[in-house]
Amino acid sequence: MPAQGRAAVGRPRRRRLRHLPAAQLAPGPDDGPGAGRRHRRADPRRARPGRSPLGPHRRGRRARARPRAAGHRRGRRAAVGPDRVGCDEPGGRERAEPGRRARRPARRRRGGHVSEERTVRTACPYCGVGCGLKATVAGGRLLRVEGDEDHPVNRGRTCAKPVALPSAVHARDRATVPQRRDVPDGPWRDVSWDEGIDWAAGRLRSIVEEHGPEAVAFYVSGQLMTEDYYVVNKLAKGFIGTNSVDSNSRLCMSSAVAGYKATFGSDGPLPSYDDLDESDCILLLGSNTAACHPIVWSRIKAAQARADRPCQVIVVDPRRTVTAQAADLHLPVLPGGDVPLVLGMLHAIVRDGLTDERYLADHTEGWDELRAQVDEWPVERAAAASGVDAALIEDAARRFATAGAAMTCWTMGANQSTAGTDKNRALHALCLATGQLGRPGAGPLSLTGQPNAMGGREVGGLANLLPGYRNAASPEDREAVNTFWRLPPTAAGVSERPGLVATDLVDALHDGTVKAVWIMATNPAVSLPDSAKVHEALRRAELVVVQDAYHPTETTAFADLVLPAAAWPEKAGTTTSSERRVTLMRKAIDPPGEALPDWRILARLAAALGWEDAFSWPDAAAVHAEFVSLTAGRVCDQTGITHGRLGRDGSVRWPFTTADAERADRLRRRAALTDDLPPEVLRADAEAPERAHH
Ligand code: SF4
Repeated sequence: MPAQGRAAVGRPRRRRLRHLPAAQLAPGPDDGPGAGRRHRRADPRRARPGRSPLGPHRRGRRARARPRAAGHRRGRRAAVGPDRVGCDEPGGRERAEPGRRARRPARRRRGGHVSEERTVRTACPYCGVGCGLKATVAGGRLLRVEGDEDHPVNRGRTCAKPVALPSAVHARDRATVPQRRDVPDGPWRDVSWDEGIDWAAGRLRSIVEEHGPEAVAFYVSGQLMTEDYYVVNKLAKGFIGTNSVDSNSRLCMSSAVAGYKATFGSDGPLPSYDDLDESDCILLLGSNTAACHPIVWSRIKAAQARADRPCQVIVVDPRRTVTAQAADLHLPVLPGGDVPLVLGMLHAIVRDGLTDERYLADHTEGWDELRAQVDEWPVERAAAASGVDAALIEDAARRFATAGAAMTCWTMGANQSTAGTDKNRALHALCLATGQLGRPGAGPLSLTGQPNAMGGREVGGLANLLPGYRNAASPEDREAVNTFWRLPPTAAGVSERPGLVATDLVDALHDGTVKAVWIMATNPAVSLPDSAKVHEALRRAELVVVQDAYHPTETTAFADLVLPAAAWPEKAGTTTSSERRVTLMRKAIDPPGEALPDWRILARLAAALGWEDAFSWPDAAAVHAEFVSLTAGRVCDQTGITHGRLGRDGSVRWPFTTADAERADRLRRRAALTDDLPPEVLRADAEAPERAHH
């Protein structure tokens, strides 16, 4: 693991070879988001009726009317903290902030009752930056949020996005009770949780019996908490036996996963935000950071404004965005020209002898192949292919290669592309060729979009993944997970057959291969590409269950069953930010009506399917404890992280092993004896020290 801005401790560093991107780095067509999907003509076949013993549901699906447009919200706007840590019940008052006097709580009168305001520490549910928030609640309502001064990511600041969270949480279209209907477009009727879950379990069981487990798919979301994400993967992959659990994160960062795995052998971003503070040159590609990751941008701007050692900011973007306008150098690349541009930069770096030959020899393999490819991309050719003036490419190459410490950062402009993985690998290669890795201020940092896209990767939340950065295609990884889950004879176990990625899932629903889809915390009827095809695919499905905090939505218009889910301040759980930082989101208020945390809904489904023992956690902390056990010895080892520790000490970056936790506890005991370490120092020291994790 590259430096976290602290001195390395005396721990042996493993020497690993970085596999450099070579032949596959060639520039390819880039048609933007959604390109490269297989387009099928509409299949006139109707879905076959299911064989549920529940007679009224034995039917083919007829066309459905479009949902009402007005008032529909696009999926869950906020889906991701109790003072009683790890508990799903709201707890007592938050402790006074360190170094501050406890403020006398305000009192609010509501419905004839007087209730005290209290503040609950949590995290922002909007983006992958992972800022800490303080949520003020009273009388069961979220009143306001503000930045958490003690959170190391944002230190009290926020962008504008979370300000409107109270109105989103208390919106009038919150789903509050399970609802089912007997025919498409028919009237909704309220049902009990038992009736809704039993009905869904019966339909799933009959579909699996008739068509096999691959006829069932789950489409989930980077808005889920890690605990929710873990449970859906365990149920679908381990017990039902379908690997078709894919996430809307597929659309935004699966290229980053594939890129890290191809270059470094494993997923997992290497630098942290602390490295932004230390860097001398930051190259941003395909990222309007100022608009989309404002708190990260504030740290980049601070580095750029350093009086003694200003950081050079290079922005590669076809548009002159706010970020580009603030850059020291803007490279207005043509769409699809990113890889030629980086190859041209590498060519100039090699030509001018600015590569770090010692680093390349000691820590990489494949450099000769990549160099042969770089030789074919003189700057003039790269300029012609990328649309960027050759002098600008030369300037960018020189600034990056001669910087004391340099980073590459990117987001959807690189990832959402048919050449997304190549763009990621090109940005890795730029760091490796110049030895910009494994020290403060250096390295390739992928910025994630959704609040818990990273946590989803850790629990195996894509069709090709298993928990702990394992791969569904690996017999050893399947065996390890099956063994850990102690599967009963009725469980199918992780299948060797690959699961369907999001866009292929739409095709499979369309052609009838997949009969049932369970959708959680996302609104694919508007967010997946080719909406008309998605709508038709959902119409053809035999069973559509939507688990969401809001109803109606464009997607619940196609549902047979809607299950009300708790939103982010209504349940406990964890999220992981772009820099591997895990933050506890405490439960602050009760969910509306009968809404439940997503993982509890899935646990009810598992029980109805006959697997209650394996899904009988008492609370989210227990779910989390089971998940982190699966990370033992893995790159993303989180075995030292518990809800209790996060609640007491604050957020922590992984890897954080049980040994790291013991070390942090020794520091805490020593501090208690000497009373000389403030909490923020303890918190920083509690984080994992520098190590090589790839
Ligand atoms: S930068 Fe992202 S995580 Fe931070 S306050 Fe804004 S939306 Fe929330």
